[in-house]
Amino acid sequence: MSVLASYYDGRTSRRHQVTLEVVAGVAQVRGEIERDCPIGQLRVSERFARAARKVSFPDGAYLEIIDGAAFRELLQETGHQDSLVVRLQQSWRHALAACAVLVAVVVLSYVYLLPLAAQGIAATLPVAVDRQIGQGTLEFLDQHVLAPSQLDARRTQAITARFRALTAPLPDAPDYQIVFRKSRIGPNAFALPSGQIVVTDEIVRLLDDDDALMGVLAHELGHVHRRHLMRRLIQSSAIAATATVLFGDVSAVLANIPTVLLDLKYSRDIEREADDYAIAMFKANGLPRQKLALVFEKLESAGKDDPASPYLSSHPANDERIAHILGAR
Ligand SMILES: [Zn+2]
Repeated sequence: MSVLASYYDGRTSRRHQVTLEVVAGVAQVRGEIERDCPIGQLRVSERFARAARKVSFPDGAYLEIIDGAAFRELLQETGHQDSLVVRLQQSWRHALAACAVLVAVVVLSYVYLLPLAAQGIAATLPVAVDRQIGQGTLEFLDQHVLAPSQLDARRTQAITARFRALTAPLPDAPDYQIVFRKSRIGPNAFALPSGQIVVTDEIVRLLDDDDALMGVLAHELGHVHRRHLMRRLIQSSAIAATATVLFGDVSAVLANIPTVLLDLKYSRDIEREADDYAIAMFKANGLPRQKLALVFEKLESAGKDDPASPYLSSHPANDERIAHILGAR
């Protein structure tokens, strides 16, 4: 088989009409130029779209193939193989698959690696950092959404004393402070990185059950003890930074997808961790865990009257959760 080609000497732009043949492993150029070269010394350019293939000689001379189809056949006969990268690039299906794999890797890293990394980083940071970040948060909330508690001081002191007497389920229980506030945000309880656990008058009245209140406090202490807020802070700053690097401003929408995915998974995980902490605390202190389930049952029925209840949106009460609390060993 002979392939039509143009020969260039690599120094001048003069074009020579030639044919190329391979006989016993030797490339034979015939026509206006005649030269032989073992095919092992030739370099064949990679296939790229419609560009002519190039066959280069060690001295810089080269052939530009005119008859591409015949050349492909010749390559096949001589056992020439494109590099794997080229073969993959040739196929848009492979390109698409590679793209999908990349997206999957990014999403999975967000969902699984980042929370782990955040947990690791939080663990190495001294608790003092949490405290520093948390400082001022309560003052800010007091100025904007919270007001002094209107509960009887004897009642709040009794609740605090009762919870303080309980044993934490993990060693090295953190310092914490329980603060009661009247709120504009309804029945709620939340922990600040400073270790302050804010309990609203509204949730105390709604639950109207001291054992159930111990459940709320145990759950929030779980958030403090496991440093969930710090983990979340580290994670969201990492997300913002990584998303900007990865996607730039153009694909702000794309960048949001993993963020949202992650948040769903992360909140479910930290809620489960805090629930498990509360379950363990109830068990360690011989409290009935039906009272823990009661927290979410009561919040759920209160939430039906007020679907915008913020405690519910951050602490979704569902049957699965209640079943977990009641069923955990
Ligand atoms: Zn929670």
